[in-house]
Amino acid sequence: MTEEETMPRNYKARRARVACAQCGIEFDQARSDARFCGTACRVASHRARRTDDAAETDRLIAELRAARARYDRATIERDRSALRQKHEVE
Ligand SMILES: [Zn+2]
Repeated sequence: MTEEETMPRNYKARRARVACAQCGIEFDQARSDARFCGTACRVASHRARRTDDAAETDRLIAELRAARARYDRATIERDRSALRQKHEVE
């Protein structure tokens, strides 16, 4: 049995000429799941994604800080009105 015959029937058919996910240049896939024309584009894409992740992390931290500040203000306001009520009752 040749290697070709042991492959899934559609394996060869799925290896096609596709556009690189990074640079857009068409290339012949070495593997059916290849998305990039070469190592440079694969690395560049990974780096770009990490930059996006870092920006997303910064955004989430800012959001958490804002939520914390809102929570602190709400807590202070609640404590104040509780104190006010206590004094009015006494
Ligand atoms: Zn490329």
